[in-house]
Amino acid sequence: MPEPTSPITLRDIYRARQAIAPLVRRTPLVYARDLSTATGANVYLKLENQQETGSFKLRGAANRLMALTAAERQRGVVTVSTGNHGRGVAYVAQRLDIRAVICVPELVLPHKVAAMRALGAEVVVHGRTQDDAERHALELQTAEGLTLVSAFDEPYIIAGQGTIGLEILEDLPQVDTVVVPLSGGGLLGGIAVAMKSATPNIRTVGVSQERGPAMALSLQAGAPVPVVEEPSLADSLLGGIGLDNRYTFGLIRDLVDEVVLLSEAEIAAAMIYALRQEKQIVEGGGGVGIGALLTHKLSHLGEQVAVVVSGGNVDLDKLLALVAKAQ
Ligand SMILES: *Cc1c(COP(=O)(O)O)cnc(C)c1O
Repeated sequence: MPEPTSPITLRDIYRARQAIAPLVRRTPLVYARDLSTATGANVYLKLENQQETGSFKLRGAANRLMALTAAERQRGVVTVSTGNHGRGVAYVAQRLDIRAVICVPELVLPHKVAAMRALGAEVVVHGRTQDDAERHALELQTAEGLTLVSAFDEPYIIAGQGTIGLEILEDLPQVDTVVVPLSGGGLLGGIAVAMKSATPNIRTVGVSQERGPAMALSLQAGAPVPVVEEPSLADSLLGGIGLDNRYTFGLIRDLVDEVVLLSEAEIAAAMIYALRQEKQIVEGGGGVGIGALLTHKLSHLGEQVAVVVSGGNVDLDKLLALVAKAQ
């Protein structure tokens, strides 16, 4: 076991896998020839951009909703999200016939609201900031008896994301390094529990954007710190880890070997590389693992490397404009 005090265990992740199997795809782990040549390692991509809804967030959402009591299912769930988490919750709620309310601030992009509504969710636009939307979600939780579904700092969510680690271990038993996009830390935290429980010397590496890397700054400070949000190509990695963080900060601090940061130009280059060389549509936050390898930022690269490509929800016009600019 990773830590005697770890709030999430390998058993929780195996349970999650059973619970979510009917709702999620087992995504492929593919050999990346060019990336392997470029780095001198055997590099494999775990393609969660091909997950249903376009990102891994579905796994945690499925595990959380499957754990609701009958009474909680009856009343429904509420969450705050402008992107992949909201889509995941909406999709699972629709499949399980559960009411889902998703609170978003006014500045959310219309096509994201449309995507969540198309999945049957009630989208409530409220307030100017993420904090306003969050306050509104808490009000709805109390007023309508809805269950609040956190995006990352919750044991069922973390265990759900950790199922990616089990699949990597099965498909590449000799894996010695995993490289994972990092924001709130549910994804990397869950995968790190799986990896370190299996073999403690598998290296776990997180990758964030240079602009407002909340977890990296919190690790440096020794406690969760607020970040100033700036726009980034890695929009799915933006946001804080919560000053009252309960689970993911400790997991990342205790189980993760290294965190590296990418500039905007490096994130763009990774998205373009994914499209050109690997024929994969990858969003900014989904491509940072590829970027970390292309820029040789890892202090130590093993021989069998799994890179989690966490999402593919990018505006195609935006992606093609990046490609055109790079010609
Ligand atoms: C949410 C998200 C992440 C980060 O996950 P955390 O659990 O918050 O660290 C990475 N990539 C994509 C595509 C995401 O949507």
